[in-house]
Amino acid sequence: MKKISFIILFFCTASVVAQQKSMNFEQYDPVSTLKVPEHIVTRAKFPFIDVHNHQWNLSEQAIPGLLTAMDKLNMAVMVNLSGGNGSRLREMTQSVRNKAPKRFIVFANIDFNGIGEAGWTANAVKQLEADVKNGANGLKIFKNLGFSVTDKGGKRVAIDDPRLDAIWGKCGELHIPVLIHTADPKPFWDPVDEHNERWLELVTHPRRKREANDPEPWEELIAEQHRMFKKHPSTTFIAAHFGWYPNDLGKLGSLLNEMPNMMIEFGAVIAELGRQPRAAKQFFEQYQNRIMFGKDSWVPDEYSTYFRVLETEDEYFPYHKKYHAFWRIYGMGLSDAVLKKIYYKNALRIIPNIDKTGFPD
Ligand SMILES: [Zn+2]
Repeated sequence: MKKISFIILFFCTASVVAQQKSMNFEQYDPVSTLKVPEHIVTRAKFPFIDVHNHQWNLSEQAIPGLLTAMDKLNMAVMVNLSGGNGSRLREMTQSVRNKAPKRFIVFANIDFNGIGEAGWTANAVKQLEADVKNGANGLKIFKNLGFSVTDKGGKRVAIDDPRLDAIWGKCGELHIPVLIHTADPKPFWDPVDEHNERWLELVTHPRRKREANDPEPWEELIAEQHRMFKKHPSTTFIAAHFGWYPNDLGKLGSLLNEMPNMMIEFGAVIAELGRQPRAAKQFFEQYQNRIMFGKDSWVPDEYSTYFRVLETEDEYFPYHKKYHAFWRIYGMGLSDAVLKKIYYKNALRIIPNIDKTGFPD
């Protein structure tokens, strides 16, 4: 494993003896000496809707435990993107109906097996209609589309493949949004060296590394997604993880301007926003109708970092994963009006059938 070495200089008080010692990047974890006000936020200021959550098990047995954790966070509604389809989805929406109908929304998923076979598209559309009838309120597309989904001839299926057009069109007709995760952070395609911001993630998770054209350059995968959004202007798309442009908000803003049917959520990228609190705050104000709260991995303790970045003006506080962000982050201190949109108003507008009672005006 490659190690980046830091040269640390220790100075003795008696005589200035510089002692050279190296340590590796993971070991270096200095305790901050900065004294500034701290506002730890373990509960969101307003009830919120997490539009990017994954629960593989949303059975009647699992729901009470989830509700306890959600109540602590002030999470009014969890959008479970892992609904699957067919009988699995039906069982899930039935458990929700029986146990906590107002607290969970379920998105369906497409089974991409057999693309290219006669009737595949028509069947996929039929399945989606049935899933929506059975209680799905959106469609989630995982990143396997673009990466590993192949047709019956073994060819990679591009995100803007015309054989999928009828699915996106149907979502528009049914007024359900499509939350789509395409590609991964750009540094995964870059050389794993001392210049790569995700170096630690790539050495601790080596399978995430991709060669320049595996399966396509990053820019091409993202371009496929955008071409598809533009081809279906009557369908609302939620680009997961700020469309992988959380570190280039100027570019992301121009994409939002170009594509009025594109929404975004900030699952797993809050540390990108927290390292540019002034630019991010300005972005949130400008695009307050286009952003929704998403987290992705279900680790209840980690939500407080999100609340702190959104709500406070705290300075120089840590993020919870060094391999995503070795830097410290800052709060944006968003206004109540913007927070309400991010926390629930935009999701109530975009995702059908969420019970509106219990959310403030
Ligand atoms: Zn996800």
